[in-house]
Amino acid sequence: MAEKKTLNIAVIAGDGIGPEIVREARKVLDHTAAKYDFALQYTDLLMGGASIDVHGVPLTDETIEKARENGAVLMGSIGGDAATSPWYRLAPNLRPEAGLLKIRKELGLFANLRPAYLYPELSGACPLSNKDGSRSFDLLIVRELTGGLYFGARHTETVNGLRTATDTMTYNEEEIRRIARTAFETARKRRKKVTSVDKANVLDTSRLWRAVVEETAADYPDVELSHMLVDNCAMQLVRNPEQFDVIVTENMFGDILSDEASMITGSIGMLSSASLNETSFGLYEPSHGSAPDIAGKNLANPIATILSAAMMLRYSFDMEEAADCIEKAVQKALRDGYRTADLMGAGENLKRCSCSEMGGVICNYI
Ligand code: NAD
Repeated sequence: MAEKKTLNIAVIAGDGIGPEIVREARKVLDHTAAKYDFALQYTDLLMGGASIDVHGVPLTDETIEKARENGAVLMGSIGGDAATSPWYRLAPNLRPEAGLLKIRKELGLFANLRPAYLYPELSGACPLSNKDGSRSFDLLIVRELTGGLYFGARHTETVNGLRTATDTMTYNEEEIRRIARTAFETARKRRKKVTSVDKANVLDTSRLWRAVVEETAADYPDVELSHMLVDNCAMQLVRNPEQFDVIVTENMFGDILSDEASMITGSIGMLSSASLNETSFGLYEPSHGSAPDIAGKNLANPIATILSAAMMLRYSFDMEEAADCIEKAVQKALRDGYRTADLMGAGENLKRCSCSEMGGVICNYI
């Protein structure tokens, strides 16, 4: 008899609601594994505040090495309440968030994928919703994560008696080519449209960006490419988000546009994300934080983490069918009226449920 395929997954439950939402994502993965006949091997790792409490630092080198030995990392969220948590009395490089920046850098996670999908069932929560609530869109932002302005040289000096600060933005063609490839490959698994966003009317980095994206497009004749200036893109996201499939852009533009795109879905507890390196390895986590205000109360919405687990199956393990199955189960739970507290709006026949109940409902629909 053939051996079952085994997926090796490092799990960082993290802080706040992290352990609650990761527990539900694991439940859903376990049900999916039973249905599609594969095995799961989890390795629990500490990061963020949970690691500070044990090791005095937010991420140890040993944890990075253990993460590397797996096919992917599934993460909840890290951090606490900055006003009350002792973690925030430490130096900035020892605080929980420093662990996240370090793991991204150490694992070479240069591509951040953030889908913004408005479920028709939740269109009432979308601030752009039509009067009849009929809005629905499905786009994905591919953001360059390890280059550009955030990683360039910077300094503050006094020039002519005035305090003067300088940041620099640098991209080389290889950094652009690899993120462009990620965008085209991702578009092939979707509706085959890429919009490359830049500021090529002003910036040299953007002119190089546009040229290299054009060159890369030659290898993907089946994918339609267009270019858009970032200011126009910010406007188009609000005016007509339906026009987009995959948006690819540099680090800072992506930072801003991905937050804008997530807000137009109206529900922070629904948004998944993936950070990938040049191999199939990735770190998968919800876009939201550790929500210390509701931690330990079984109130959190686990859907963003469950959808992150679906992205993990699709991008790191190439299991399209199993990923689709999880996404459909989430949609069915919403269609049948199940809502965690954050999603409870006006509507008929809505069934309020806890974090663990939502996980259970989604498992039943796998
Ligand atoms: P947050 O996203 O944790 O919470 C913002 C609001 O959204 C809160 O009212 C919270 O209750 C609610 N919320 C968030 N996720 C929810 C969910 N799944 N279900 C229901 N409600 C949810 O943002 P914050 O309060 O600014 O940050 C709290 C902590 O999280 C900070 O320490 C911050 O640094 C950290 N953080 C971590 C990550 C990460 O781990 N990648 C990302 C962002 C913030």
